[in-house]
Amino acid sequence: MHQASLTLLSQAHAAVARVFASAVSRMSMKPISSTHVNRLGAGLIALTVTIIALTLWWDHAWAIALGLIGVALYAMMLLRALAAKSRELELTLNHMTQGILMVAPDRKVPVINQRAIELLDLPKSLASQRATFDDILNFQHQCQEFGKDGVSVQPVVWDSIKQGGASTLLPVYERVRPNGTALEIRTVPLPDGGLVRTFTDITERRRAEGEVRAMALRDELTGLANRARLHEHLQDAFQRLHRAGEGFCVISLDLDRLRAINDTLGHAAGDTLLQQVAQRLLQCVDKKDLVARVGLDQFVIVNADVDHPLSVIPLVQMLLTTVGAPYSVNGQRLIVATSIGIATAPNDGDTPERLMKNADLALHASKKNGRAVFSFFEPEMQVAADAKARMATDMRDALAGEQFEVHYLPWVNCETGRIAGCEALVRWRHPSLGLIGPSEFIPIAEECGLIAAVGDWVLRRATVEARRWPENVRLAVNVSAAQFLGNDLSGSVQQALSNSGFPANRLELEVTESLLLFERGDQRAMLQQLSRQGVHMALDDFGTGYSSFRYLDLFPFNRIKIDRSFVANVTKRPHCAAIVTAAIELGRNLEMRTTAEGVESQDHFAFLKQRGCEDVQGYLFGRPCRGPELLERLTRSIVVNSAA
Ligand code: C2E
Ligand code: MG
Ligand code: MG
Repeated sequence: MHQASLTLLSQAHAAVARVFASAVSRMSMKPISSTHVNRLGAGLIALTVTIIALTLWWDHAWAIALGLIGVALYAMMLLRALAAKSRELELTLNHMTQGILMVAPDRKVPVINQRAIELLDLPKSLASQRATFDDILNFQHQCQEFGKDGVSVQPVVWDSIKQGGASTLLPVYERVRPNGTALEIRTVPLPDGGLVRTFTDITERRRAEGEVRAMALRDELTGLANRARLHEHLQDAFQRLHRAGEGFCVISLDLDRLRAINDTLGHAAGDTLLQQVAQRLLQCVDKKDLVARVGLDQFVIVNADVDHPLSVIPLVQMLLTTVGAPYSVNGQRLIVATSIGIATAPNDGDTPERLMKNADLALHASKKNGRAVFSFFEPEMQVAADAKARMATDMRDALAGEQFEVHYLPWVNCETGRIAGCEALVRWRHPSLGLIGPSEFIPIAEECGLIAAVGDWVLRRATVEARRWPENVRLAVNVSAAQFLGNDLSGSVQQALSNSGFPANRLELEVTESLLLFERGDQRAMLQQLSRQGVHMALDDFGTGYSSFRYLDLFPFNRIKIDRSFVANVTKRPHCAAIVTAAIELGRNLEMRTTAEGVESQDHFAFLKQRGCEDVQGYLFGRPCRGPELLERLTRSIVVNSAA
């Protein structure tokens, strides 16, 4: 009896444990772990042993019944506890912000939460009927979840889907659903060969990131693409060119006079103008084209579908007329011309950088050719640019190797006929190219940032040599606009004067109107400071700039140098005679000395003297010469007023 009841009870506890485990498993949609079953079994065994002990003692049937009631009660308690646990788990799963799905090794889906159903837009039937992973996948294929042939997912994701989709080889990937939801999908392998997959909605995060990215690729002022976006676009264009043979070209545009407008009408006006230009550029192009702003006043258009370089001409002509038409800014009528350079892919460059560089070289050529024109890139432009680059490199060596020399061109006082001063003109004795004039290398020095060093050298050398000249002979040194920008010209002058001992009041600095174009307050302050030190200022090449009268009013000039182009024709062209006469008159009224440049003949000299010009300079009185030769001329003190 005892043995029989023991067997009966042991079978009863195993059966209860199994029923109990399967009931809980069904409720939670999750198998009860072996730990739980073991614990339950252990509990039942302990209870059974107690009952057997009671049975042995009392040997009554009611004791067995009592034991069985106890077993049932204990089982109910455990069942309730496990059901509560299961509810908690279900609650947690269904309130997660992430979707979660478990795939068993047999591809059943024992766990899938509400969020996963929502995020994947799965029908209720799939969610409730204990669907398999293949059911879900089939449904997704039917709905074209991954686009036709997987076009809307990355190739690697599509490969994995084609192989059943339950791979753990892609631990994390992203995809955008047909409804626009961006999902981050993470997969974690389980020890039994199954996997757990989570789905996170990252649409909002991606949208915010997209906005930040768009901002980073946009020119803030005009809303056009910026340089970074342009670069991306060019890379894509090259890919299309290689893949599908779609030709394209880069059109580089540069606005004329924007700096001057900024300085005279203010930056707000300049900004409005740029916005209007941007709108006009957009009007001229097709949807496929890209318009970018890449500098203060520089724009680039990438023109798509160009089968032949010449096919771009109608667009370029439209750009010239559209951008060149008058603007109205703050009630002011403004006209801004644009110069254009064109480079076509792949002939003019096989990388974004090279194509852009060549379009810029073509633009440079347009500017040289008189602006408001367009030029196609030509290989010779590259040759010239390379030569320029070589010259810039050589110039660094020239400074170290003392290859520069200063020549002097005197000017003569019309009244006394004597040399009143000498202008320092720099030359470069290049080891292989011979003697190079300043017009060839000064612009390059300005571009490559060497002008301050060259200018300082000229100042130092000229003031040292001029120290030996008679006291009534002045020294003029040319300074370039670039020497004012970001350089301490006043400090350099001060240093050259104190090193050489040359007096400040015998030094004149010659500036051209290009310097004054910027009209920046700090430049004016620097000129005024130099002026206070006693240094004189001369406005060089007068009449060739934009609006000389304004500069004459703004800056402290002591001398006006009338440009050679007017003087050369003073006896031939009445217009030039009138301009030169007016300039002399203007100088007199403004109490500035006037010097006529480029005096080559006695006729010129006679004309100028007769009109009251105070000083004259030109080949009539000799060519520029080196310091020792000049010193000899000065000591001979030749009177040159042969026309007097
Ligand atoms: P600039 O200051 O107007 O100098 C006058 C230029 O005209 C000089 O040319 C001079 O040789 C030339 N010239 C003077 N009289 C006559 C004449 O009767 N007939 C002809 N055909 N030419 C005459 P250069 O030396 O070639 O200088 C050209 C320009 O280079 C200068 O024009 C000046 O703007 C610039 N430059 C010269 N030296 C320096 C320098 O040290 N620093 C800077 N920044 N610029 C310089
Ligand atoms: Mg000069
Ligand atoms: Mg000049």
